[in-house]
Amino acid sequence: MLLSELQNGEYGIIAKVKGRGAFRKRITEMGFVKGKRVTVVKNAPLKDPIEYSIMGYEVSLRRSEASLIEVITPEEAKSIISSATHSHNLIKFTEPELISTGVKTLSKTINIALVGNPNAGKTSIFNHLAGAREHVGNYSGVTVDSKHARFNYKGYTINLTDLPGTYSLTAYTPEEVFVRRFIHEQNPDIIINVIDSSNLERNLYLTTQLIDMDVKIIVALNMYDELIERGDKFDYHMMGKLLGIPFVPTVGSKGKGLDKLLDTTINVFTDKDKITRHIHVNYGEEIEKSISAIQSEIKKNQHLTINYSSRYLALKLLEKDKLVDKLIKNEPNYTGIRSITDIEVNRLEGIFREDSETLITDAKYGFIAGALKETYKETRHKKKQTTERIDSILTHKIWGFPIFIFLIWLTFFTTFTLGQYPMGWIEAGVNWLGNFINLYMPDGPLKDLLVKGIISGVGSVIVFLPNILILFLFISLLEDTGYMARAAFIMDKLMHKIGLHGKSFIPLVMGFGCNVPAIMASRTIENRNNRIVTMLITPFMSCSARLPVYILILGAFFPENAGNLLFVIYFIGILLAIGTALLFKKTIFKAEDIPFVMELPPYRMPTTRSILMHMWHKGSQYLKKMGGVILVAVIFIWALGYYPRNANYTKDFNTEIEQLKAKLTNSNLTQPVADSLYHAIRLIELEKEAERQANSYLGRLGKFIEPAIRPLGFDWKMGVSLLSGVAAKEIVVSTLGVLYQTESDTDNGGLAEKLRNETHQSGELTGKLVFTRITALAFLVFILVYFPCVAVISAIKNESGSWKWAVFTIFFTTGLAWLLAFLVYQLGNIIIS
Ligand code: GDP
Ligand code: MG
Repeated sequence: MLLSELQNGEYGIIAKVKGRGAFRKRITEMGFVKGKRVTVVKNAPLKDPIEYSIMGYEVSLRRSEASLIEVITPEEAKSIISSATHSHNLIKFTEPELISTGVKTLSKTINIALVGNPNAGKTSIFNHLAGAREHVGNYSGVTVDSKHARFNYKGYTINLTDLPGTYSLTAYTPEEVFVRRFIHEQNPDIIINVIDSSNLERNLYLTTQLIDMDVKIIVALNMYDELIERGDKFDYHMMGKLLGIPFVPTVGSKGKGLDKLLDTTINVFTDKDKITRHIHVNYGEEIEKSISAIQSEIKKNQHLTINYSSRYLALKLLEKDKLVDKLIKNEPNYTGIRSITDIEVNRLEGIFREDSETLITDAKYGFIAGALKETYKETRHKKKQTTERIDSILTHKIWGFPIFIFLIWLTFFTTFTLGQYPMGWIEAGVNWLGNFINLYMPDGPLKDLLVKGIISGVGSVIVFLPNILILFLFISLLEDTGYMARAAFIMDKLMHKIGLHGKSFIPLVMGFGCNVPAIMASRTIENRNNRIVTMLITPFMSCSARLPVYILILGAFFPENAGNLLFVIYFIGILLAIGTALLFKKTIFKAEDIPFVMELPPYRMPTTRSILMHMWHKGSQYLKKMGGVILVAVIFIWALGYYPRNANYTKDFNTEIEQLKAKLTNSNLTQPVADSLYHAIRLIELEKEAERQANSYLGRLGKFIEPAIRPLGFDWKMGVSLLSGVAAKEIVVSTLGVLYQTESDTDNGGLAEKLRNETHQSGELTGKLVFTRITALAFLVFILVYFPCVAVISAIKNESGSWKWAVFTIFFTTGLAWLLAFLVYQLGNIIIS
């Protein structure tokens, strides 16, 4: 009997709680667990909620909730036991004994539904299971049939239902509607998904829909005899692990494998099955975004999620499903859900120029293709479709990898070469603006702040915007065509070698854009160990913020090989990530990991709109950072460098300059003499400025840390720029821009030129160039490896849930950076000399 059917004053013992995860958890916390006694305090007909008393206190439940709890009354217990024992003499039992026996019997009842494509073999399996045993009944629906049978197996009572065959669970055919209603309204304990193994792809499509529904599933891999006969190789055990569903091979027509099927059913029912877990089919970034938007509105209606997974409802709404729309029509926030759904559908269709239902179907087939690629080898070659034909090249055992490397190389090479043109224009514009203000504004701190602080600092970062947009253009292209998923696939085997999964590869690639969203993207990795390791190695993926530094240094010191070296740097980052992952998986995170499906979505010609949108979305994050963190940092660094104003100079520079200027007033100077005078004045001014700068707060800070970075060949200016890079890596460049500003009045060469000419001001290297090619390399390595940035550290803290890994990252990366830069500098110098 259902709890909702008990009348005032009656009591029952709880035998079973149905419904879905979140509801079950809540109800269990309230004390509604098997064996507990519930008494009705007030159950007025047609009134919601109903009041109950359980474990000495009173609670109220909605009628819909109470109807998901099965109870046994003393009367019922008697009839259950007498039908099970065929004895009507129950006098010897006390009431508690009766009830506990009744509960035991009832909780050993499993309701099973057979779901599958037409002709998958459901009825054959049903007949074999039911036929030889008990009670077969045939119930007719309005237009479609379902058959029921009850039999006993190993002490369990099995209620089996054979449902009509369907290819899908949309609401297009009466069969589909019937099966959906049955699953939602009858809440079978277990769904046995009968699959025809001669057409795995199409049959698994239905399985993905069952996965969306978040029900307990077992797959009967039927027609297994035919699969064996064809000689196909199907690692169904692996497939089961990937999907979190046990696969049992069966031959329905001969009744083979059915005992194993029932044993597995009992294991899943009693939560003893090791493979069963609830997975999510991954629909890709954009669709997932839409799902969560709709989901969060649906979740406001708690009672809906008792019987329906909110993710499933959200998906169905995106598919424009009529039945789900009807289901939620009476919810108070129906208009809210509707409008969010419409917005999301329009957004998706705008991006992909494709019907939202098709997008979801495609993603499902992508999921299946990915799962099959890892587990299934066909002997017979059927005619290949376009996607498969392209895949046979791009994911080829041998060619896949070089193609992948080539595409990534092409990306970075083009970024560098193509980006140089707009970069030159922006640079010219920034220079012009600086000169303009310089000419027309009176001297003073404000002018200094504008010209030497903001314009020079922000300007030196903004020149990299074209590069970053081009890089994002490529990444978006690779993502939207579907290639990125293949890249993950190609990488999977390799990723396994370092103890990670191909899925970790996506966040890592995103890390090339920005580490922050990349670390957030690691959320999709279900295994906690893998997630944390992925987070910890993501900072070795050179984010776009580091690109400006690379481009500046490479352009200045290795102009002829800049593109290739850029590639090498990114590659070193990747190698470090691999090494670190290996180290961690062998030491801190040894636990075994769970396999995932990697989706292989169909190849798609991306729309210009989606590419531009993705590119802009990422590019605008960069611009936002420039307006925020970078602007503040630039002003801060400028102020540290500008103050204090009252320096105690070692020489009386002003008098020296005055003396020289006085000479200039002599009217019979020849031009060469005048020029050399100007030059002399300029040199003294520079010397003065250098002294002033060294004496500034910034200079003192840099000098303070200089001993620590001297072994790497760095001077205090580099030290200051590295310190400032802690806020964001782009600031390294803008800091260098501010620090080397002093000489810009005379020569018009860019920052690169100034770096090339910079000499050491103190120590045993005085007068020597600061930046040799070796120092430049050491500096690049340091930039690549050290402290990612404040935002990344806070992302790691949030995603890992503790400060531990965030603090660890700070020390680990900075320590490693120092060590590597030290090696580059010291070994490099030994080799050179
Ligand atoms: P349903 O539509 O899912 O109920 O499928 P049926 O049970 O009616 O089976 C369709 C056809 O497949 C029948 O001719 C069965 O004899 C045959 N069949 C069922 N299971 C198997 C099997 O495991 N191997 C083979 N070779 N044939 C099977
Ligand atoms: Mg049938």
